[in-house]
Amino acid sequence: MTVPPPAPARKKAAKAAAKDAVAGEAKRVDKSPAQKALEKLGLKRDIDLALHLPLRYEDETRITRLVDAREGGTVQIEATVTASEVTFRPRRQLLVTVDDGSDTCVLRFFNFYPSQQKALAVGARIRARGEIRGGFMGWTMMHPHTRAAGGELPTALTPVYPTVAGLPQPYLRKAVLGGLARADLVDTLPADISSQIGLKPLWNLRQALSFLHHPTPDVSLAQLEDHSHPAWQRLKAEELLAQQLSQLQSRRERAHLRAPVLRADGAGSLHERLLASLPFQLTAAQRRVGEEIAHDLADAVPMHRLLQGDVGSGKTVVAALAATLCIDAGWQCALMAPTEILADQHFRKLVGWLEPLGVRVAWLTGSQKKKERAEMLGLIERGEAGLVVGTHAVIQEQVQFRNLALAIIDEQHRFGVAQRLALRSKTNGDEVEPHLLMMTATPIPRTLAMSYYADLDVSTIDELPPGRSPIVTKVVSEQRRDEVIERIRGQLAAGRQVYWVCPLIEESEALDLTNATATHSELSEALPGVMVGLLHSRMPTAEKKAVMALFTSGQMGVLVSTTVIEVGVDVPNASLMVIEHAERFGLSQLHQLRGRVGRGAAASACVLLYSTGDAPRLGETARARLKAMAETSDGFEIARRDLDIRGPGEFLGARQSGAALLRFADLATDTHLLAWAREAAPLMLDRYPELAAKHVARWLGGKTDYLKA
Ligand code: ADP
Ligand code: MG
Repeated sequence: MTVPPPAPARKKAAKAAAKDAVAGEAKRVDKSPAQKALEKLGLKRDIDLALHLPLRYEDETRITRLVDAREGGTVQIEATVTASEVTFRPRRQLLVTVDDGSDTCVLRFFNFYPSQQKALAVGARIRARGEIRGGFMGWTMMHPHTRAAGGELPTALTPVYPTVAGLPQPYLRKAVLGGLARADLVDTLPADISSQIGLKPLWNLRQALSFLHHPTPDVSLAQLEDHSHPAWQRLKAEELLAQQLSQLQSRRERAHLRAPVLRADGAGSLHERLLASLPFQLTAAQRRVGEEIAHDLADAVPMHRLLQGDVGSGKTVVAALAATLCIDAGWQCALMAPTEILADQHFRKLVGWLEPLGVRVAWLTGSQKKKERAEMLGLIERGEAGLVVGTHAVIQEQVQFRNLALAIIDEQHRFGVAQRLALRSKTNGDEVEPHLLMMTATPIPRTLAMSYYADLDVSTIDELPPGRSPIVTKVVSEQRRDEVIERIRGQLAAGRQVYWVCPLIEESEALDLTNATATHSELSEALPGVMVGLLHSRMPTAEKKAVMALFTSGQMGVLVSTTVIEVGVDVPNASLMVIEHAERFGLSQLHQLRGRVGRGAAASACVLLYSTGDAPRLGETARARLKAMAETSDGFEIARRDLDIRGPGEFLGARQSGAALLRFADLATDTHLLAWAREAAPLMLDRYPELAAKHVARWLGGKTDYLKA
């Protein structure tokens, strides 16, 4: 389908709007749709417009003779119309034959206005631009852009910008041109900073931007496309520098903030008593990260630490030990988890560990009864609860801590940046900041850690507790479902329990997925005498809890569930996990799910059931994911492969969507620029603090908060 040219009325409106845009910001009162579209693209300041770079370019700088045209190329020709007719076979169309003296070409239009037909009458001299194809009838062009011949040819390539509906290219071009002309593009990069680090002299910012918006036709298009052109290098270096500066700045700002000093006081401390009461010995890795955290907490500078450790590596107990340091010093600790089920598990575990030692643990969740909630809020406000566990409810406004000193966030990647910020601001009003500990089972690859998390300290648990049996992972076609059910019988006979995970129930209708309810009936029928439970996100909380309790106690043999069990569920007797439609899950999600088994001594297995639907075989990325799962159970290796398959944008999830952080630089290929930016940032902050501030404001505008979260 081709898009009809805009109606004259629309054209007029766009023209008027374009005039406004050039006239400047001050006059804007009523926003036109195009202006709203500009804002939707985040193009508010002149500098934003100047940094809105073309996706590609069109070459209108030269005329190609038809005899020199190449099949499939995009060319601009200048020629005389020698014939023009409307035919109706196979459908109504305008056929215009043109001759440029070297050869002829047929221009074909399915949508056209009478005015267009008139402009293309026999004898007219025209310019036409489009993709040219050879064929039975000689050269043809489908729906070329046409206009009267003559007039000067532009000297630069014509930019084509990323845009949205309601924002035509000509309008956007003018707006960008205006922004580029008005924006303050004075260099913020002092020569000694770029030269000292040994970065080749790059174009200055104004040169680079002007060039990228309007490159001269002799440029290597390949260099523009793969962003290796020096102008691109300049922009990427600037962008990475802004990111590093902003993170370094927030690190230094934090160094001036005060947090409570939390220190264990030797024998008889809560910390010692919890250690002594645990039914297991800490692993060496748990001890090491515990010391790293304790070291931070004993300092008056707020901690900002990420604790990463594979699924089942035992992060919860490390968090509990950190909490004891805080509570023992007379302060409060909050632990927040992304789902109610996970928060509930934490709550039970922590109550089990800490209440015998005299610590009061409060519980906060959205689904709580009013009375219970009021009671909890009281405990928290009066400081009677040393530890508060819950979901997002923990950061709601009504929650007043008496003296919060440590905030722990589990599975931090599932929280939005704004939520993390809110938790950090939950202090008791004074100048005191809480220490922040984030936990994740999705390890962050090194280049990402160096760039996005540069102001975080990272602790890593790199070993699993002893006695875990390795999980055998099998990738099995849906056609062998019966064999899988047979395998479930075997596990149940051996006294084990089984998880069966289905994709989201919300999507099941639309995507024709086997939904959890159907699977639940199927398994109930196939396994007479066995309690088969069902858990999905639409169930009321109380019902969810009841189902989980039956499974945890071992009465329920099989739990059919949507991904609500993804994080944190801990039932060591479960030895088999079946994941249905495994091809629809992301890699880290599959890994998290698999981590629910293999928690006890029994040999455990994970079956990834896949279905190709109508397709002859699985898509390439789905295949790569399942292959990775079958080949390794190492979370770090999984994360590396995930990054390979998905790229950093998706990998970062919420953090990325909070702000378009790296638009130009590519961490996979621009490692040398990243290394440069990391070295340049501290020098620049020390020697040129004002330029550094200007640089960050230019590149990040109001987004810097997101970088600090
Ligand atoms: P995750 O890191 O995935 O959050 P958990 O904290 O839930 O892992 O721990 C998984 C299981 O391992 C829990 O049952 C926990 O009590 C147990 N565990 C933790 N540390 C040890 C240890 N050092 N030795 C034996 N079991 C441990
Ligand atoms: Mg956990």
